[in-house]
Amino acid sequence: MHEPERFKSPEYLAVLDEVGTPEACHVSPSALNAMQEAAKKDYPLETCGLLIGTVNNGWQVDEARQIENLNKERAADRFQLDPAGYRNVDRELRGTAREIIGVFHSHPDCPAKPSPTDLESAWEGFVYPIISIYNGEVADILCWTLNEDGSRFQSLSVKHSQK
Ligand SMILES: [Zn+2]
Repeated sequence: MHEPERFKSPEYLAVLDEVGTPEACHVSPSALNAMQEAAKKDYPLETCGLLIGTVNNGWQVDEARQIENLNKERAADRFQLDPAGYRNVDRELRGTAREIIGVFHSHPDCPAKPSPTDLESAWEGFVYPIISIYNGEVADILCWTLNEDGSRFQSLSVKHSQK
């Protein structure tokens, strides 16, 4: 698979922590499917959305919901999650045991590694799966979270949960 040159640049490499975290992101089959379908539907543009679930012994994602990507100008390599979409979901979950625990997005024709822009917009405690999609087919999903001081992304394993 083709890896654009920028992914080998010092700026891009500086975003990645060499050490991963032992914690895991458990993803339900329906959430996994929803992320893959969103990436395919929006290809060759970037898709993005919210992950809903609980944080308890790692992240437990039971739902992935697509949210509009407001970045139309650079929709091939940037995403900007619609804040109104975020607020609606947040409001809906208030008072329930579930919450927004992460943000997913796709990298059309690029590896599933985070970019410097992804780092700038990342929140502590959130989990960030990236879906790599080449020629409209999902190639890879890698999951990331910020390290302790928020300076880099650490990888974590994606585990498939039963429900
Ligand atoms: Zn990205």
